Amino acid sequence: MITEVLTDIWDKILDHFQRHNSQTWRNWFEQIEPLELENGVLRIGVPELNWQQYLKQNCNESFTSSAQHVTGHLVSIDYVHTQKKAMASTDTGEAIDLEEDDLFYYNPDYTFDNFVVGPCNRLAHAACQAVSETPGQVYNPLFIHGSVGLGKTHLMQSTCQALKRKIGQDFTALFLTCETFVNDFIRAVEQGDLYEFRYKYRHVDVLVIDDIQFLSEREQSQEEFFHTFNSLYQSRKQIILSADCTPSEIPNLEDRLVSRFNQGLVTRIDKPCIETRMAILYKKAGMRGINPSEDVVSFIAKKIDSNTRELEGALTKIHGLAMLEDGPITMELARQALGEEPQPAHHQISISQIIDVITEHFNVRLSDLQGKRRNRSIAFPRQLCMYLARDLTRHSLEEIGGHFGGRDHTTVLHAYRNIDQLCDQDESIRNLVQQLVAGITQKQ
Ligand code: ADP
Ligand code: MG
Repeated sequence: MITEVLTDIWDKILDHFQRHNSQTWRNWFEQIEPLELENGVLRIGVPELNWQQYLKQNCNESFTSSAQHVTGHLVSIDYVHTQKKAMASTDTGEAIDLEEDDLFYYNPDYTFDNFVVGPCNRLAHAACQAVSETPGQVYNPLFIHGSVGLGKTHLMQSTCQALKRKIGQDFTALFLTCETFVNDFIRAVEQGDLYEFRYKYRHVDVLVIDDIQFLSEREQSQEEFFHTFNSLYQSRKQIILSADCTPSEIPNLEDRLVSRFNQGLVTRIDKPCIETRMAILYKKAGMRGINPSEDVVSFIAKKIDSNTRELEGALTKIHGLAMLEDGPITMELARQALGEEPQPAHHQISISQIIDVITEHFNVRLSDLQGKRRNRSIAFPRQLCMYLARDLTRHSLEEIGGHFGGRDHTTVLHAYRNIDQLCDQDESIRNLVQQLVAGITQKQ
C-alpha cells in the first residue's frame, strides 16, 4: 500500500480515537507508526514494550473501532514492538526472551518527564533521580512515604524506567507490590521452591517494593524480607521502598527491619499545594492532548485538594463531559461535572481502620479474619471487611486479599458481590453496613 495513503488513514484513525476516547488517549500516540494494512490487519509499530502493553490492554477495542469506522472494513490491529528487531540484530536471542518473560510492565505515564516537582515532593524526586543516576550508591535503601495518591508509585516507576533506559538490558529491576512478595513467598513455601524464590529476589540490581506497610503482622514474610534485604544491601544493590507511613509507624514491624529501613534516606511526600496542583493538571491535560483554560484549571485545583489521583479523575470527568456534549471545556461545564463530587473524606480510609471497627463490632480477632476458618461468625465479618475495603479505599482486589490471609482477588470479588447482594435483599444488613461505614469515617 502507498505510504501516504496509509499515513492518511492512520492520521484519521488517531483523530477519531482522540475524539472518542478522552481517558486513554496519550500524546505519545503520535509517535506510533503505521507499518502496513494488509488482509484486514493494520500493523502499527511501537518503540517501547510497555507502550505496546498499554495499547493492547487499554486501547485495543477503541483503536479497532476507530480503524473500522475510518476504513469501513472489519480491520483488526497488530501492535508490533519495533525495537525488538533492532535488539535481535545486536543482541542474543536470550536477552529478548528475558524481556518478554518479564511480566511487569511499567506504566508509560509514570516517567520523570511526566512528574511535576513542587515543594511537597522535591526531596523524594531528587532522591529518586540520584538513585537513577547511581543505583546502590547514594541512598540505600530509599524509603518514600506519604498518603495514598501522592505519587509514590509514579516516582518509583520513573526511577526504574530511567535506569532501564540508561543501563539497558543488563539492568535487572524487580518492581512489585508487597502483597506480591508475600504471596510469592507463601507459594514458594507451599511448593518447596524457596531456593528459586531466593535466587529471584537476591539477584537483581534494584528491588522496589511498593506499599511495604503490608508486611505488618506477617512474621514469616518479615523474616524472609529481612534476609533478602541484607543480601541485596551487602552486594550494594539498590532497594527502594514505599509506605503510607514512616518505618517506625508501620504496626508490628520488627525492630531490626525498622532500623534497616531507617539506615538510608527516609523521605516524605506531602499533599501538593495549589500551584503544584495546577501544574499537575496542566501536565495531565497536555498528556491527553487537551488545553483547558486557566480558570478551569484553577477551579479544579481549588476544589480538589486531597490527592493527585482525585485531581486527575476530575480532569477526566470534565473532559469526558465535553466529549459527550461535543463542545469545549468551559467553566460552566467544569462546574456541572464536579458539582456532585463526593467529599474526598473517604479516600484516606485505611484497611486497618476498617479492621478496627469490624473486630470491635463482631468481637473477632484480626487473626480470625486472616485465618482459614469458614464458619459464619468469622466468614461474614471477613467478607464485610473486604466489601468495605473495596468500597472505601483505593486498594486493588489483590491488595485487599493480601490483608486477609493472602486471599486471591477472586475471593475478594466474591465477598464483595455476596455482601452487595445481601444489602439489596436485606434491610438489616443494609443498615448494618451504613452503621459500620459511619463508624469507620468517624475514626478519620
Ligand atoms: P501513590 O503511589 O502515592 O498512591 P501514585 O503514584 O499512584 O500515588 O499517583 C496517583 C496518581 O497521581 C498517578 O496518576 C500519578 O501519575 C499522579 N501524580 C501524583 N503526583 C504527581 C506529580 N507530582 N506529577 C504528576 N503526576 C502525579
Ligand atoms: Mg502506590
